[in-house]
Amino acid sequence: MARASSALFLLVTFGAVAVSAGNWHHPRGHPVHDLFKRQNSTGGYPVVGSAAWTAAYPSNINTTTVPAAWMTAYTNAKNAGLIPDLAPTTMVNGNPTYAAGIDPMSATVCSSTDQCRINGTTTQIWDAPDGMVGVAFDDGPLPPSTILYPFLKQNNQPATHFFIGENIWQNPTIFQECLDDPLQDIAVHTWTHPYMTTQTDEQLLLELGLTIQIIHDSTGGRVPKFWRPPYGDSDVRVVAIAYYVFNLITVIWNQDSNDWQIGDTTDATGVYTDASVTANLTNWLTGPKSPGLIILEHELSNDTVNCFINTYPLHASNGWISKSIPDVLNQPWYLNSQNNTSPMVALDVAATPPSAVPAPPAPPSPSPAPAPPSTTAAGSSGAQVSAGVSGVAKSSSNNSTANGAGSIAAISTATLLGAALCSLVFWY
Ligand SMILES: [Zn+2]
Repeated sequence: MARASSALFLLVTFGAVAVSAGNWHHPRGHPVHDLFKRQNSTGGYPVVGSAAWTAAYPSNINTTTVPAAWMTAYTNAKNAGLIPDLAPTTMVNGNPTYAAGIDPMSATVCSSTDQCRINGTTTQIWDAPDGMVGVAFDDGPLPPSTILYPFLKQNNQPATHFFIGENIWQNPTIFQECLDDPLQDIAVHTWTHPYMTTQTDEQLLLELGLTIQIIHDSTGGRVPKFWRPPYGDSDVRVVAIAYYVFNLITVIWNQDSNDWQIGDTTDATGVYTDASVTANLTNWLTGPKSPGLIILEHELSNDTVNCFINTYPLHASNGWISKSIPDVLNQPWYLNSQNNTSPMVALDVAATPPSAVPAPPAPPSPSPAPAPPSTTAAGSSGAQVSAGVSGVAKSSSNNSTANGAGSIAAISTATLLGAALCSLVFWY
């Protein structure tokens, strides 16, 4: 992001202080890199799919102990006040549910399952910039991925793959096929795919950390920068642990293709078919360009993959710029490398020193009236949004793009300037 920004400037709400992007640094050798180093006498990593590689990861996460380095990083962040105290949800009728009296839309919860957006784009992303599609697939690597990968390669199409750690572990050959295409960005979708708000802090550390570890070890040491919560289920606690312990940015979506429900006849909201999913994708790809699209799609079945393939020509024919999630955000793919072929070096990333304290919670914005997509982003490019993990805004529906922040990025206060500054934004 910082690399893009000759025209980038920062606006601090109580004083028109401009800070050049070049001043946005964090110390080299961020400690996140150190969390995943392994003691290896040969100095290398096991070959993907080898016996040593398979043996390096647990078969049962429930009997796994959180590594001391991860726990120390968590404890430091917790003691610094960066990890909110919020009890896990419990599953009620198939939905993650907070205790009585806890409002999922409140600033102290901000559940993405309830469509509460954590304001700013430092810790959580919902939209792509105008005119762009962030191409991403969840749940791989799986057998249907072997239809997707040759197609992406044939079209020189970069995409982000939010991989499930257990699926990597169980499908190393398919995983390697993805790694063999340098245009494919590898990101985190947890180890076992739980509703993350149901998990304890320690379980969250394992779900994220183990998946980071297997990706790190299998890519020559690259540390993922982005993750997506299964079912889009996150809140301020989950997002804070991802960001302040592992420096992971949470990526949700602004359109759900519902491809994962194809053939599911039990959903009261309707039966999804190849035709209905294709119609949804067609509508969005032929629709408004603002904000840009981040569509929930899966490499889960032949149907889900074919829905993408069949609508793929609409990206180009409608003038979309379609790239991986970090590419549309103009960010490095990994915490320590620009992409799959760049050298691994310490990069400028939005890391937060443990001593920093996030901005105080902002009151929830009033719910915007539902509006058609064509009106949602009008005039929004200069809008100001509050920054930090605590600010919230509600989007109007699951298929809404009402945030209107597609061309705006906000940096958390803690990231840059500590607790003294309350609200800052930049344009690019
Ligand atoms: Zn998933």
